[in-house]
Amino acid sequence: MPGKEGEKDKRIVVAIGGNPNSGKTTIFNEITGSRQKVGNWSGVTVEKIEGSVNYNGYHMVFVDLPGTYSLTAYSIEEIIARNFIVDEKPDVVIDIIDAGNLERNLYLAVQMIEMGGNFIFVLNMADMAKKQGLIIDAQKLASFLGGPVLFTVGNRGIGIRAILDEVIEVFEGQEQKTRLINISYGNELEEEIENIQPRIAADPRLNGVYPSRWLAVKLLENDSDVGIKVEENAQNHGGIVEQVEVSRGHLRGIFNEEPENVIADQRYGFISGLLQESVTLGEHEKKDFSQKIDKILTNRFLGIPLLVLFIWIMFQVTFNVGSIPMRWIDTGIGMLGGAISAIIPDGMLKSLLIDGIVGGVGGVVVFLPNILILFFMISIFEDTGYMARAAFVMDRVMHIIGLHGKSFISMIMGFGCNVPAIMATRTLENEKDRVLTILINPLMSCSARLPVYVLIAGAFFGRRAGNVIFSLYALGVVLAILIGRLFRKTIFRGESEPFVMELPPYRIPTLKSVIIHMWERAVLFLRKMGTVILVGSIIIWFLSSFPVNREYKREFAERVAAIEQQYTARIESLGEDSPGYRAQLERLLREKEGLISDLRGEKKQREVYYSLIGRIGRGIEPFFRPLGFTWREGVALITGFVAKEVVVSTLSVLYAGGDEDAELGAVLRARSGLTPVAAYAFLVFVLIYTPCLATLAAVRQETKSWRLTLFSVGYQIALAWIMAFAVVRVGALFI
Ligand code: GDP
Ligand code: MG
Repeated sequence: MPGKEGEKDKRIVVAIGGNPNSGKTTIFNEITGSRQKVGNWSGVTVEKIEGSVNYNGYHMVFVDLPGTYSLTAYSIEEIIARNFIVDEKPDVVIDIIDAGNLERNLYLAVQMIEMGGNFIFVLNMADMAKKQGLIIDAQKLASFLGGPVLFTVGNRGIGIRAILDEVIEVFEGQEQKTRLINISYGNELEEEIENIQPRIAADPRLNGVYPSRWLAVKLLENDSDVGIKVEENAQNHGGIVEQVEVSRGHLRGIFNEEPENVIADQRYGFISGLLQESVTLGEHEKKDFSQKIDKILTNRFLGIPLLVLFIWIMFQVTFNVGSIPMRWIDTGIGMLGGAISAIIPDGMLKSLLIDGIVGGVGGVVVFLPNILILFFMISIFEDTGYMARAAFVMDRVMHIIGLHGKSFISMIMGFGCNVPAIMATRTLENEKDRVLTILINPLMSCSARLPVYVLIAGAFFGRRAGNVIFSLYALGVVLAILIGRLFRKTIFRGESEPFVMELPPYRIPTLKSVIIHMWERAVLFLRKMGTVILVGSIIIWFLSSFPVNREYKREFAERVAAIEQQYTARIESLGEDSPGYRAQLERLLREKEGLISDLRGEKKQREVYYSLIGRIGRGIEPFFRPLGFTWREGVALITGFVAKEVVVSTLSVLYAGGDEDAELGAVLRARSGLTPVAAYAFLVFVLIYTPCLATLAAVRQETKSWRLTLFSVGYQIALAWIMAFAVVRVGALFI
């Protein structure tokens, strides 16, 4: 194989890395024969062996890196190995992997690929793997690792020549065989990486010298050697270190563990997902606890039914348990309204406070418990490691329709809020996949829609409300998949890229982490109440209170006076000492109050009808009439563009009557005239149409295209209308 070095030979520097005992030396000797040079790595006593070979017009120099299990800074061997890769930037890096010991060897591989470079993965000891009954899908593994995968049996010289051919191919880049793979570390860690990485990329003395993401991850791992690197090189050293400290502190708070451990767990999670996808076990079976559970939870047949069951339980709990504290808050708000009503005289200010602010904001605040419970359940799913399994299970479904698991992660995040979910699509490398995922994400029902569901489902479906809410979330997922499929077939043609789901080990969630998640949610929710929802409620109140109809106001005052007069007369005519006087008097007073309250309600309704918002509502009514909605629901849907909670605020203001403490749900049932079918159609509309302005802004920002943003709004409204109409039509068949 070796030949004479020619003048025109191109020089290729190849580093060989791998775990100890993976067969590195054996393969190195096979390739270079006797042409070896033994020395020391500069400054240390670790042996450095170089060898070279001339092959097909290339002069290849091979450097045998020290064998290591990891690339942390724990030993000098590890530091030498990784410094050679990031500092010397060899043309090609070969990672020798013991195929019979994949999981452990891949831990090193995964850390290597994070540093970037052209990698070839040599699965040595292929004979041992075969003996164990492992069936390894090289092509899949290659696509996940971002470089070609070869099999060798080093001690018998099998597959060695193929390595040399592959080195040339990769070096010449004839085929785009290598690409950068980023391991996704999960939301929390990714957020912190996102906080650190731009600072590194912005540093003129670091940028381009070291891969910025790798540095960010290493700093989060508290890697002492990388710390020194940054300290020596960075211009803005202080700023970076400060951010790293903040990020590490934040992560420690959430995970109750050192970030480096969490990162290691995620890497093992990545590997475990990778193995699930690309290696089939023959006879040989592992008896690991997590894998035992996974046998059931990610089972080909049981996986999806179990996922559906868990989500169903989640919404049952969200609705049923949530309704208890919800009633307490509702009572509190009713009392607040009553107190304000007692202090402030009748008039505009009172109406603004009670109908506008207490009604509008209070109407939404009651759903805080539901939202907290939802996030409690979601964080349990996340922290136990089940969420990754859910994505893994759905990954198969996603592949069928031409998307992959990473898209589903962003979809699951959409259950919380579409805005960060849309931003999370940045981890998708393929632009088409990314845009497609962004476009379907709003169909994932975010937590802002929950108040509308709880209100309407509670009012019209009683004990079946939990099922109704569950059906909406499920409908959202199904539609997202179908629409994704449709778009994939028409506007965004292409194949899905290979992707590995991280499967972290199962763990028992810590109370602290769950509470932090809920607390963060509560703060966000309450802040939204104090800003968007408050302002929205005031604007809606204003639009529904003006212009004032003076004539009608006078007429109303007269009718109230007439009732007062009539009852005063009737009370006077009661003989004070007639039997049952007290009871009679009370009955009359109650009757009078009832009549006046009805009248007040009627007045409100008439005022709203003739107000600005009423006019707008009647203007758009024809659009919603086929769906069985009144103009009030139409207005609520329009204001809901701002944020979905505003739908509740609007209904609360529009249906406000004389009685402050009547439950909104009961009022809707009594006065809206909606049938249960129309109510469900309304919920379907709320599910599907544009979630909120913030989501639109996120779509615009992430796609950088107004056309796509408008397209997103357009298709969602059209789909919402069509689906709601379908509900009404189908409903009509059964009722
Ligand atoms: P290093 O520590 O990575 O340099 O590993 P070595 O090259 O020293 O190999 C360790 C042992 O594995 C030696 O006894 C080799 O003969 C043996 N070995 C190397 N490659 C293979 C292989 O493909 N199959 C088998 N069965 N043994 C191998
Ligand atoms: Mg060796």
